[in-house]
Amino acid sequence: MNPRRSAGRRLRRRPRDGCGGPAVRQLGESLDELADACRVLASAGHNDLTLGHCSLRDPQGRGFWLKRPGLGLDEIADRRDFHLLSWSGVPVDGAVPHIEWPIHAGVLTAREDARVVAHTHPWWGHLAACRATPLRLIGNEGVAFAGGVPLFGETPDLIRTPQLGAAVAATLGAQRAALLTHHGVVFAGGSIAEAVVTGLWLERLCRSNLVLDRADGAVTEIDAETAAAKAGRTFAPGPVESHWRYLRRRAEGPPSRGRCTG
Ligand SMILES: [Zn+2]
Repeated sequence: MNPRRSAGRRLRRRPRDGCGGPAVRQLGESLDELADACRVLASAGHNDLTLGHCSLRDPQGRGFWLKRPGLGLDEIADRRDFHLLSWSGVPVDGAVPHIEWPIHAGVLTAREDARVVAHTHPWWGHLAACRATPLRLIGNEGVAFAGGVPLFGETPDLIRTPQLGAAVAATLGAQRAALLTHHGVVFAGGSIAEAVVTGLWLERLCRSNLVLDRADGAVTEIDAETAAAKAGRTFAPGPVESHWRYLRRRAEGPPSRGRCTG
């Protein structure tokens, strides 16, 4: 049986290796969970061919685990689809990483609170990144971004150097997410659940803004203070984890494909 056929039903799956200490097993389970996150994000509009990637801070401080290149987010099945990179972008396994690894190194270095970072090219998000005005705080999704969604406007090109990665991290600052002009989005979370829900609500907020742009200014907006107060209730760890458990229950597995070797 092809092990990938039922990747989405792996909530009840096992550590495959059956060896290693608790820390190793916990890391493997976290990477399996991150694989679920990739597929959930793909199903929520973040898929773009084989582009886009998620990372997890290595609990031993060796660097970060990054999605392997050459795979769609919807194809990420489990821990085998990630590899460990040093903080300077050197993969431990010698394989070629995603070229935009500096985004992850930059954000995870700058943000001690972040455990997970994602960079994707969602349709509404990348269109919102072409707008010249900040996103409005609209609706239930808007309150999660009370501090705003900053725009990185330095270049629409790939973020392929440590300097650009650090610049993206500086633009992101302490916020949950940032837009990359004519390119895509970056978002971070202290947990996989937080990162995924942020990604889903970010895409919905971008869509809301673009739809309501047609209202010619006749749109109300939540003030930042009220948004932050509501986010303290709706974006608290409890509801966010509840959302994530729901999303994982609904996650569908990737189609069967051959084993990635690169
Ligand atoms: Zn990109």
